[in-house]
Amino acid sequence: MIHLENQIVFITGASSGIGAACAKIFANAGAKLILAARRYDRLQEFAKTLNLQADKIYLLQLDVCDRAAVESTISNLPPDWSNIDILINNAGLSRGLDKLHEGDIQDWEEMIDTNIKGLLYLTRYVVPGMVARNRGHVINLGSIAGHQTYPGGNVYCGTKAAVKAISEGLKQDLLGTPIRVTSVDPGMVETEFSEVRFHGNKERAKKVYQGLTPLTPDDVADVIFFCATRSPHVNINEVILMPVDQA
Ligand code: NDP
Repeated sequence: MIHLENQIVFITGASSGIGAACAKIFANAGAKLILAARRYDRLQEFAKTLNLQADKIYLLQLDVCDRAAVESTISNLPPDWSNIDILINNAGLSRGLDKLHEGDIQDWEEMIDTNIKGLLYLTRYVVPGMVARNRGHVINLGSIAGHQTYPGGNVYCGTKAAVKAISEGLKQDLLGTPIRVTSVDPGMVETEFSEVRFHGNKERAKKVYQGLTPLTPDDVADVIFFCATRSPHVNINEVILMPVDQA
C-alpha cells in the first residue's frame, strides 16, 4: 500500500459531490490538496471545513473548459505545489435528458467541453511533469453511462464513453513508465449532479433517486482512494460501482 503523506493531489470539481468527498479522504491521509472549481466562494467555504494548515491546501478558481487558463494555471503553480502526484479529473456535468433530435445544442457543447475537453486539457498539461519525475497517477471519473446508454442519455453517455477510451489510450501511451491510469465509473450517486442536469429544478432532480438507494459521494471517494493506495506495480484500470438496486 502506498502512503499519501505529503503527496500532491489535484482534484478538479472539488466544490461539491464526489470531488469534495475525495478532498476529505485524501486530506485525512495527510496528502497536500490542490482543489479547483469555478465557484471559488463555495470552494473556500468547503476548504474551511477540512481544517488544514495553509501548507496542506491550495485553492484554484479554474474553469477546466478554458484551455489557456488550464495551461497557465498548471505552468504557474508555486514550486511547492507543482509536482503533482495524483490528478483526479472529476469535474463534469450532464445537461438535459432530451431526445438527440430535439436536444439543446448549448447543453451538448457544455458536456463535451467539460467532460471531454476539460479532462484532456488537464491531462495534457499535468502528465508531462509526471513523466519527467517518473511517478504519478491519473484518475478519471467515467460513469456507468460510458458502458450503457439510457434513453435521453445520448450525448452525456457519449462523453463518458469518450472518457473510457481516453483512459485506455492514456494507459497505453504511458506503458513503460510507472504512471498509473484509472477510470472510476459509478452508477447513480446523490450529489448536485441531477440538479445541474435539470438546470436547477430540484423537484425533478429528487425524483431521479426515488425507489433506489443511490451511492453517496463518500462511497465513490473510498474506491478512488483504494485505487490510489495500491502497491506501485498495481494498476486498477477501471472500476464500475453501482447501487445494489440499480440495473
Ligand atoms: P456535482 O455537480 O456535485 O459536482 C460537479 C463538480 O464539477 C462541481 O464541483 C463543479 O464545480 C465542477 N465543475 C463543473 N464544471 C466545471 C468546469 N467547467 N470547471 C471546473 N469545475 C467544474 O456532481 P458529481 O460530484 O456527481 O460529479 C462528479 C463527476 O462524477 C462528474 O464527472 C460526473 O459526470 C461523474 N459521475 C456522477 C454520477 C452521479 O450520479 N452523480 C454518476 C457517474 C459519474 P463548480 O460548479 O464550482 O465549477
